[in-house]
Amino acid sequence: MALLKPVDGPGELHGRRKLEVFNPATLEKNGEIVVATASGVQQAVTAARAAQESWAALGFGERSRLMLKVRDALIGGVDSLIEVICNDTGKPRIEVLAGEVSGSCEALTFYARHARRLLGSRRERRHPLESVKLVRSYGPMGVVGAITPWNFPLLLSVAPTVQALMAGNAVVLKPSEVTPFVGLALEEVFRAAEVPEGVFQVVSGDASTGAALVQSGCDMISFAGSARTGRAVAEACAQRLIPYALELTGKNPMILCEDADLERASRYAVSGAFANSGQICTSIERVYVVEKVAQPFVDRVVALTRRLRQGPETLGEIDVGSLTLPDQLDVLERHVKDAIDKGARALTGGRRNPAYEGYFYEPTVLVDVDDSMQVMHEETFGPMLPIQVVKDEDEALQLVGGDSYALQVSLWTRSGYRARQLADRVPVGRVTVNDVSSSHSMFASPVVGIKQSGIDRGNAESGLKRYTRVQSVLQPRFPFRGDGLSYPYGSGALRAHERMLRVFYRSPIGRLLGK
Ligand code: NAD
Repeated sequence: MALLKPVDGPGELHGRRKLEVFNPATLEKNGEIVVATASGVQQAVTAARAAQESWAALGFGERSRLMLKVRDALIGGVDSLIEVICNDTGKPRIEVLAGEVSGSCEALTFYARHARRLLGSRRERRHPLESVKLVRSYGPMGVVGAITPWNFPLLLSVAPTVQALMAGNAVVLKPSEVTPFVGLALEEVFRAAEVPEGVFQVVSGDASTGAALVQSGCDMISFAGSARTGRAVAEACAQRLIPYALELTGKNPMILCEDADLERASRYAVSGAFANSGQICTSIERVYVVEKVAQPFVDRVVALTRRLRQGPETLGEIDVGSLTLPDQLDVLERHVKDAIDKGARALTGGRRNPAYEGYFYEPTVLVDVDDSMQVMHEETFGPMLPIQVVKDEDEALQLVGGDSYALQVSLWTRSGYRARQLADRVPVGRVTVNDVSSSHSMFASPVVGIKQSGIDRGNAESGLKRYTRVQSVLQPRFPFRGDGLSYPYGSGALRAHERMLRVFYRSPIGRLLGK
């Protein structure tokens, strides 16, 4: 059964389409959404543009106050919000609270508190003899279109939104069609916090709505999702010559050296691979373990995995929820079949969970895997942990170095020196050492997906700045002529420039001037 079903009949009236949306864990109907048309998207962008200027004029202090009010409204309605997220995604309640809600509160707080410091205009410190003074300021882009995925429908909508809003932009959000009610619930939260009308709006819909948003006259697109869609978004933005930020697919390895703390590593491998049913862009998608410690590591991982409780949230205490997107079942089945056909063994799972009708796939540990298998290169985005034995960490780095995705690597060694040396050799956006996620300083540390994992920096100062246009204001510092090139040229000016070239770059005075 599909998660989304087009509604025939009256839904088609006036060219409007409707979609029925189902709970992936129970297959019960969550409700219906009307897919926003291109003209509906256009209206939202026009309203956003009308609201943006006065929003920017409020200044950091008032915008910050309102973002903290959004956080308070979010916490005030947390129970119903959690229910909406559980129903849309099939996640356990604890994961919604710890990942989605806490992460969103952290984002709102971090950017509300730090935007002024990170984005305020500043006069550059210059050499005392420099002839020009420079003030650099960060102004809003205007209207930002944010297109977001279903795996963290709240957090990945709040994070770009608060960054763009704190930078003075208005935002039109297009949440995933798979989790549309989370987007609508977020719109309610903003309304409850009395954020001025038009500043933050949600347009519900599918790929067609996302494509319409890119074409709608937004000044920038912020996108998180698959590399395939990211490429289409980039092409459409390039046609319009507007900037975009892409946060895309990962295939994140964990590398265990022989001095790794195996007890901690096995615990984190299991939670890193199976949390959110493996549907995290930074999930552990594969492990490379050196042969000397491979067997005890695998034994621990298998024992921990066998203890995991899987089921719908309604059962009470569970560890692993359902998949959110049924398509992931096909990917899991294809990856397992390919691996087993080539000689791998599933020590746990390796099949759909027969106890439920919803989209549950059992947490799966695969061994005897090798580099020829799809599961070691393509994103699985499901509860899958393939473990490959390698001679040493050099072999692991060699296998990782050829990847087309490069989002995050998790390194395990007790030696800080070795960790830093290995980190220098992995060309990825983020390295975690003896940990699998960066949740402790999620917004304070930039994340940069490289290769097919993304374009542009997210989070922290660089994340905020991507929602701005930088403006340099240059002004002469000394009230005399002749420091630049102006008419009439004449031979005197020519000689002066020849002298300057020599003085600046070939003399001790030049070094004194910092040239
Ligand atoms: P997706 O690419 O299918 O969809 C993402 C969003 O794009 C949805 O809202 C969708 O409606 C919209 N969309 C689809 N086609 C479009 C088009 N042509 N133009 C504009 N918008 C369009 O991704 P998904 O399945 O929702 O998310 C899963 C993927 O996202 C995984 O690959 C995961 O690794 C990745 N992801 C990456 C990050 C990160 O920060 N790097 C975070 C979360 C998810």
